[in-house]
Amino acid sequence: MANLTETNSFQSSLSLKHQNLQRKAQRFAEEVLMPYESQCEENDGLDQASLYVINQDVLNWELNAINHAKEDGGQGLTIFEQMLINEQLGKVTNAIWDTVFQPAYPLRLATEQQKKEYVIPTNQGLRRDAYAITEEQAGSDPSQCITRADRVDGGFRINGEKWFVTVGDAADYLLVHAHVDGDPSQATVFFVDKDTEGVKVKRTPLYTHHFAYEHPEFIFEDVLVDEMKILGNVGEGYDLTKDWFVEARLGIAARCVGAATRALESANDFAAERQQFGKSIRNFQAIEFKLADMTVAIMAAKSMLYRVCSDISESYDRKANHARAAALKLYCSEMAGNVCDQAVQILGGRGYMRENAVERLWRDVRVDRIWEGTSEIQRTIIGGQIKKRGLGIYVG
Ligand SMILES: Cc1cc2nc3c(=O)[nH]c(=O)nc-3n(C[C@H](O)[C@H](O)[C@H](O)COP(=O)(O)OP(=O)(O)OC[C@H]3O[C@@H](n4cnc5c(N)ncnc54)[C@H](O)[C@@H]3O)c2cc1C
Repeated sequence: MANLTETNSFQSSLSLKHQNLQRKAQRFAEEVLMPYESQCEENDGLDQASLYVINQDVLNWELNAINHAKEDGGQGLTIFEQMLINEQLGKVTNAIWDTVFQPAYPLRLATEQQKKEYVIPTNQGLRRDAYAITEEQAGSDPSQCITRADRVDGGFRINGEKWFVTVGDAADYLLVHAHVDGDPSQATVFFVDKDTEGVKVKRTPLYTHHFAYEHPEFIFEDVLVDEMKILGNVGEGYDLTKDWFVEARLGIAARCVGAATRALESANDFAAERQQFGKSIRNFQAIEFKLADMTVAIMAAKSMLYRVCSDISESYDRKANHARAAALKLYCSEMAGNVCDQAVQILGGRGYMRENAVERLWRDVRVDRIWEGTSEIQRTIIGGQIKKRGLGIYVG
């Protein structure tokens, strides 16, 4: 296979440490995760035994909690290093990359007690978190959340509902975004153990992709939590959620570049092998131009990805990072949608067969223009930032 990580590639300008990290992630994706793709596609998920084996492999390969500090049981990688890994994981279909758990970024703000109870075991693969913000009436506009946490003696009583909770099936606790006493200015994130009385799964809808995990809907009925279950402080909910979005959006951008790269590699190989009208289809200009456009689109997205992640690795400017992550997520997710669509076209009827990775990638990347803020919302963020801070933050 014509592999894009050969010499003369961007990778050759990486430090040896970064090249090794990237190679390790590539091998993990190809040797450990890709063999599960068919099982996941056919069964719309992975069985418990497979998930257990992968979890052990993630730990053995030291790919657990790459986004958390070593002292908290993670790998303590920079944003740039995380990106190198996520790019390779994005090549795996059916979102099996999500088995390489990256606990929510805001967890690093946990108290010492919360770290012992939640964060360290999560980073060590013994517990699993899921982040629950979205509700029936609160999607792009989370201020419409009606999940509330009313103050009671010694803690809070949570009532409400959360939708689309990714990994909600495998998680044993949820990070629930709720408004204290129903006041949106008091938005707060709570640790809620799934086995707490009053926490129920409402339903588990089916989605376009055949994801390694589910995205259930949860109901919270008079769920009692004590003061120790607040992550950060009362009223910090939106800041924590924004931090989560930044990290999640960078992860999406990196995985989209990986997904598009695999789709291009498949299409390029197919175009070389497939003969019609007595010649390889790559010799038809219509196909060659598609390959050219796909290649340039990935090159542009990848250049942006590497540059922005390198900048963010060295910057603690929360607002600037939020602004740039929105641009990156928008560009890379739209690029991946287009590239995967063209790859399907190049494979013709075979591109529409689920047994081919291109078909699964095409389906998988569709959600990247929706979750963690739709493309329209990313454009709204970028437009707002230009108005407030000028163009320099993007093109300076
Ligand atoms: C598979 C999947 C997994 C998910 N996982 C999670 C999760 O783990 N945790 C979680 O909390 N959420 C999760 N989500 C929810 C996801 O973040 C929301 O679906 C997303 O933010 C959009 O919200 P919505 O679906 O309610 O769409 P809506 O907000 O209703 O938007 C509908 C349409 O209107 C557009 N629109 C809305 N407002 C504007 C505006 N101001 N300007 C222009 N256009 C606008 C949108 O772009 C969209 O096209 C997940 C979603 C999916 C599909």
